[in-house]
Amino acid sequence: MDVLNAPVLVLNRYYQAVRITTVRRALMMMYVGAARALGREYETYDFEAWACLRPCNGEQMIGTSSGALLAPRLLVLSRYGRLPIATLRLSRRNILLRDKFTCQYCGCRPPVSDLDVDHVTPRSRGGLSTWQNLVTACRACNLRKGNATPEEAGMALLGKPYRPSWTASVELAAVPQYFSEWEPFLASVPGGRRLAGPNMASTEEALRQMLSP
Ligand SMILES: [Zn+2]
Repeated sequence: MDVLNAPVLVLNRYYQAVRITTVRRALMMMYVGAARALGREYETYDFEAWACLRPCNGEQMIGTSSGALLAPRLLVLSRYGRLPIATLRLSRRNILLRDKFTCQYCGCRPPVSDLDVDHVTPRSRGGLSTWQNLVTACRACNLRKGNATPEEAGMALLGKPYRPSWTASVELAAVPQYFSEWEPFLASVPGGRRLAGPNMASTEEALRQMLSP
């Protein structure tokens, strides 16, 4: 993976995981004083102190015009730094992640290529493209439902669709690469540990399928 785009776990000032960012953005946030990096013993470094660190045990470095920089893996937001606005993009990928690649009508988990995003209230009936009106549906259910509402089609939803409240848990599911340094902080993310466990492989596989042409 390109070092500048490698994932960095961002913690708020209470050391709770809030989101994933990239090394590139993490260094920028450190540079402007919005965040500090956590070191090997979870000690904090501002940008200048971080720039003095040298790698050991094959840690990743980034070449810059002012010398080599260690790639941070954990970032803690500065006390007075503004919290990043937690916006989770409404996308096919994130709908599928929220629904764990499961058809919300029949509960099946077909290959990702056979999953659609269904408007619960059809667009032709005024249904909007929102977190609350979009669900994952298998091709068969999507065809069966057609232009009907769930009530008209006699098809109940497994659950009420919602906007994920915690961006980090959804973002974590999309990150194929974990670092052991993250472990102590993932407990604060709903689903964080579970996603890091055995389920990770299937999510990764699903993402790989989705991203392949
Ligand atoms: Zn289905």
